[in-house]
Amino acid sequence: MDEHYNVVIIGGGIAGVTAAEAARSQNSEISICIISQETYLPYYRLRICEVIDNPSVKDSLLLHPEEWYQERNIHIYLNKTVFGVAPDNNEITLSDNSRVSYDSLIVASGSISFVPPIQGIGRPGVHTLWTMADALEVEAILRDKKKVVVIGGGLLGLEAGYHFSRMGIATTIVEKMPRLLSNQLDEAGSEIFMRRVRSCGVNVITSGDIVSIKGADESDDSPVTSVLLADGSALEADLVLVSIGVRANSELARLAGISVEKRIKTDNHMRTSIPNIFSAGDVAEPKNFWFGLWSVSRAQGRVAGINAAGGDEVFELSTPPYVLNTMDTKVAVLGEQGMLSEPQYELDVLMDTNSGNYRKLVYREGVFRGFILVGDTHEFSKLQKEIKKT
Ligand SMILES: Cc1cc2nc3c(=O)[nH]c(=O)nc-3n(C[C@H](O)[C@H](O)[C@H](O)COP(=O)(O)OP(=O)(O)OC[C@H]3O[C@@H](n4cnc5c(N)ncnc54)[C@H](O)[C@@H]3O)c2cc1C
Repeated sequence: MDEHYNVVIIGGGIAGVTAAEAARSQNSEISICIISQETYLPYYRLRICEVIDNPSVKDSLLLHPEEWYQERNIHIYLNKTVFGVAPDNNEITLSDNSRVSYDSLIVASGSISFVPPIQGIGRPGVHTLWTMADALEVEAILRDKKKVVVIGGGLLGLEAGYHFSRMGIATTIVEKMPRLLSNQLDEAGSEIFMRRVRSCGVNVITSGDIVSIKGADESDDSPVTSVLLADGSALEADLVLVSIGVRANSELARLAGISVEKRIKTDNHMRTSIPNIFSAGDVAEPKNFWFGLWSVSRAQGRVAGINAAGGDEVFELSTPPYVLNTMDTKVAVLGEQGMLSEPQYELDVLMDTNSGNYRKLVYREGVFRGFILVGDTHEFSKLQKEIKKT
């Protein structure tokens, strides 16, 4: 494969696919390709946990069927890893040593799971979950296993824990913070949410610090049997899922001389420090703005695609809502949370522990500033619009 495309996109996640679609709408003539190192056509990454308890849903998770790409004349290369970027020659090199040249490049290489340096973390049976291949591997392992420990009670850990417990697997989520979703919910919201998690049969340990992962014997290749916490307690485990956050897949860009701090720096046109190279999605950070969310990656992909194809679009740096739909409940949070210790807030709070519903509206200086909804979130769109108006 030694080719030239007007727009080359590294990564077939939601940012990359949306960028390709937007570039095509911007210009029907240009040549566009996506290079993805995954085996599967791009899929709804945020739904891969569904594969763990039902692998037959795999194909229904595709973003688009193969014909969609053909109809739009978007070439998609699977199983190809971009190995190097040479901005001086407008060229990328793939792991098979072939080269592809471009007029504009979009780096949408996303995230990789962060793996902390805990003793025993390399044992068989310790996994992360980011790709479809990861989900299928976890599914295969769990067929004859009965106990799972999930490290991390964020978006991903909760969703995975929910699916494990639905499979009848004894599941414990260990969260380092004193309560679940402590960055998104206030104490009352966390409490209501925690009850819901427990009612799904998931055990939760908060303020839990895992210090080592034990195997049947001390050798590094002995499969996991338990995890040890800092307070000296131990939890039995056939599988340990590590989900304590992600790191940007930005090394390629850094090596190419593109400005990278934690992530690839861009302006609000999603343009990097090199004028014909754009970036979008989890790997990108326009003006210190980063949330690691699907909706943000899609919005940035659209802007990067339009601009890479010669348009002039701006990414709007407005804080996205936090939306969660798992553990048979829903959470929607936006804006200021109005902590009880902060007297400048006026709060309108409704809490019903029986139904598991919590609704908090936050006002400051008479103006609606934020809300927390747990359980019943039907007012979400209305409240979001009200905040936008103010
Ligand atoms: C289980 C799970 C649940 C989630 N739940 C939610 C949720 O409820 N709400 C929400 O908003 N977000 C959720 N997320 C996060 C969301 O999925 C991510 O924010 C989003 O997928 C980021 O998209 P992206 O396109 O930037 O990157 P990615 O999805 O990471 O895609 C990047 C792609 O680039 C490829 N790539 C990387 N380097 C190269 C290379 N050198 N050559 C070729 N290809 C390369 C990668 O293999 C990958 O396919 C969840 C994620 C997971 C895993």
